[in-house]
Amino acid sequence: MTQTRPRIWLSTPHVMSPKEREYLLDAFDSNWIAPLGPHVDAFEREFAAKVGAKHAVALSSGTAAIHLGLKLLDVNHNDEVIVSSLTFSASANPVTYVGATPVFIDSNRETWNIDPQLLADELADCAKKNKLPKAVIPVDLYGQCADYDAILEICKKYEIPVLEDAAEALGAKYQGENAGLFGKLGAFSFNGNKIITTSGGGMLVTDNEDWAKKVRFWATQARDPAPHYQHSEIGYNYRMSNLCAAVGRGQLLTLDERVVARRANFDYYKKHLGDLPGVTFMPEPKNFFSTHWLTVLTIDPAKFGKSCEEVRLALDAVNIESRPVWKPMHLQPVFSHCRHRGGEVSESFFQNGLCLPSGSDLTSKELDQVIDVIKHESCIA
Ligand SMILES: *Cc1c(COP(=O)(O)O)cnc(C)c1O
Repeated sequence: MTQTRPRIWLSTPHVMSPKEREYLLDAFDSNWIAPLGPHVDAFEREFAAKVGAKHAVALSSGTAAIHLGLKLLDVNHNDEVIVSSLTFSASANPVTYVGATPVFIDSNRETWNIDPQLLADELADCAKKNKLPKAVIPVDLYGQCADYDAILEICKKYEIPVLEDAAEALGAKYQGENAGLFGKLGAFSFNGNKIITTSGGGMLVTDNEDWAKKVRFWATQARDPAPHYQHSEIGYNYRMSNLCAAVGRGQLLTLDERVVARRANFDYYKKHLGDLPGVTFMPEPKNFFSTHWLTVLTIDPAKFGKSCEEVRLALDAVNIESRPVWKPMHLQPVFSHCRHRGGEVSESFFQNGLCLPSGSDLTSKELDQVIDVIKHESCIA
């Protein structure tokens, strides 16, 4: 066999609609080829309206949004910031950019996100030592919110601000409220693999107008209002370009459809694989609305007959990309000096968890191909 079908990828950008093209060409033809411009302003307005935030600031990445969010919360050298351990490194890296140290908290099995009980235990211990963390960064993993009722109650008790890493969860809800709005700040990503994309980009949302202004100032090199170049603060080159924002405006119009498609992938996989021995899908508790940005399942090798890694390799052998669940931050060499609380739950997800192809463009034929391989690997095949 020489003829192979194209690779089935984990999460690819959906084919662009005519709207992205129209906005992009408008930006191009107007020659606003700059890290600001009318499409940036419009994208910020439209994004804020869509998620229900008062203000949104378009930035060059989700990582930049988290970084400047931490600066707004005045996180500095020698401070600690609590971060969910089961996440991508970009949730934790910015903590180190401001000279602070992350402290990692394990997930619970109900949400796969930060365990409120462990968070409460950690903060109680911190209070006893008289060294409370400066901020808490819960992560909304794979399109599903963390358990914010419990998290916000605990953080309120100690008056610790929450910066929500909603990079993977645009379009998700918790108790009917949109992801990104639960903390003082919410960070989103438009990286190429996310549910909508600007090729690269991010957004910071807040209800605080002064904060939004401050972030725009920092993100454009902290230029003081003066005819010459005058700086009283360290700035960053973090603003989104007008071209990317033009694409983002078109993408935003498609968000609801993308959520429907990703959720349908999950339902389809679950219908066809959910009864296999040892297979468990990431749960979606009552009052949570996950986008299922990625469909994730765990495989118990004792019951299934093969390990998660064997299944991944079997998929790869027929040109299908799947990925292990994020390796928890408390296991990462670069964070080995950081304190962590718990860890067994996220470790078990990493050990046995697999992310399946989840793009909103996938055809049912492609989904069937993935399903057939996994069924074939199971002990009942
Ligand atoms: C993608 C992602 C980020 C970073 O976003 P970028 O736009 O790629 O910088 C942060 N946190 C999580 C959980 C992510 O998945």
